[in-house]
Amino acid sequence: MEPSDPQMPMVAHVAHWVLPVSQPPIRDGAVVVDHDRIIDIGPAAEVLAGFSGPICDHGAGAILPGLVNCHVHLEFSALAGMVPPQARWQDWLDAALAGYGGLAPEEMEAGVIRGIEAVHISGTALAGEVTNTGCSRPYLEKSPLAYHLFYECLGFDLLQPAELEEMFPFFAQAGSINDPRVSAGAHAPYSVSASLFRAIGKWNDARRRPQTVHLAESRGELEFLNQGDGFFRDLLQRRGRWVADFQPPRVSPGAYLDSLGFLNGATLAVHGVWLDSEDMRRLRRTGAWLVLCPRANRYTGAGTPRVAPLLSAGVNLALGTDSLAGNWDLNLFGEMLWLNRHYPHQGELWLRLGTLNGARALGRQADFGSLEPGKRAALGFVPLAGDRDFWGELYAAGAEGGFRWLG
Ligand SMILES: [Zn+2]
Repeated sequence: MEPSDPQMPMVAHVAHWVLPVSQPPIRDGAVVVDHDRIIDIGPAAEVLAGFSGPICDHGAGAILPGLVNCHVHLEFSALAGMVPPQARWQDWLDAALAGYGGLAPEEMEAGVIRGIEAVHISGTALAGEVTNTGCSRPYLEKSPLAYHLFYECLGFDLLQPAELEEMFPFFAQAGSINDPRVSAGAHAPYSVSASLFRAIGKWNDARRRPQTVHLAESRGELEFLNQGDGFFRDLLQRRGRWVADFQPPRVSPGAYLDSLGFLNGATLAVHGVWLDSEDMRRLRRTGAWLVLCPRANRYTGAGTPRVAPLLSAGVNLALGTDSLAGNWDLNLFGEMLWLNRHYPHQGELWLRLGTLNGARALGRQADFGSLEPGKRAALGFVPLAGDRDFWGELYAAGAEGGFRWLG
């Protein structure tokens, strides 16, 4: 193989470990990169035979694909450190909404810039960004972070059937219609009317784009859908969104969304802390993804996702950090470390959730999520001392900021 461009020569990255994700770890592996694409991967002894370009030997540690964070709200980044961890999720939501409402546009934008930097520098190549204003988009466009933009819709009191672009002008813009990286997102079953859910689903389905929704994050959501009262009724009344003759569907959150046709293989349901066994089977049956944000759930007081039954049910799982209003940082290795500490026998699985599964959920597996010829050269390196617990050491090193980009 010869370098095709003297300014950007072909490079072989070599390390004690290469973690392709799409195949088992490779001891003494190599990845050859040409411009922005991976062109070869395998045992160094095979890959480097006949290779005449420069070789970067990174030594003790692992080369791995850039991570995929399927759920972040960059516009909440300015609230970092201002909304403390809470024991009750309702208290967290009240504090986060109050903080968000008090942000000046320039504070929000400065937070977005810091948030993008924090996501990318810690190892994430692709992020699913949930935006409420669209203000994060130009900053993402200028950054090295690849993204999918979910413009989040709220409207418990939007009751008339209507096209989405009539209710939200964002979706009538050419930049939204023509960009496959833009979708409509639904906030949650307690803040989106049935009509609005249908309009969101219709807009996304027509363009074959992924969609997202916060699902079963707090226990209060189950009570609200069953009885139509409690914290969420009070919240909607306080915000002037309550609908006087609202009739609760009296079903579980998953059953409710399924009845609206909102669960399918392009749906990223987020959190799922309070899903029951039947809703887990429903996600499996519909092919919907569940994006786990376990540290965020702990931070906000939402609870702990029931990972073992989710795995047993065969639910498609990916990972997200949620926002700096509701997590300690935006480093996705922290989510993998949390999962590995609670389920240490599944070590390799958490990297898959944070890479290839996330790329599949966002429909970007042709470019991201694993080290395979033809994919983007979005890869990095984590130094490892060689402890016996390989996966535990990898996630801890990444969570401590040990990841660095190659190239
Ligand atoms: Zn969220």
